[in-house]
Amino acid sequence: MFRFIVIGIVLILAYLLIKRFLFPSGRIDERRRDDRRIKGEELVEDPHCHTYVPVNEAYRVSVNGKTLYFCSKECYKKFREKGGHIPD
Ligand SMILES: [Zn+2]
Repeated sequence: MFRFIVIGIVLILAYLLIKRFLFPSGRIDERRRDDRRIKGEELVEDPHCHTYVPVNEAYRVSVNGKTLYFCSKECYKKFREKGGHIPD
């Protein structure tokens, strides 16, 4: 009977170790969140006023399959009015 208890404890410990190894609690999610944060803070140049703005705060426009980033909608309007050159 005692042997079964020992085997049971060993199995539980093995299970916990494997579980911890396969699913490091929330660590993967945290890393993903960090990546997103870093990407969001990546600076992009406004082709109109040449200000650098963080991607996640930029005004985003798709033109001819290219994504342009502006510091504001006003800058995009001015850019279009000027017939702005779309950078390659
Ligand atoms: Zn601007």
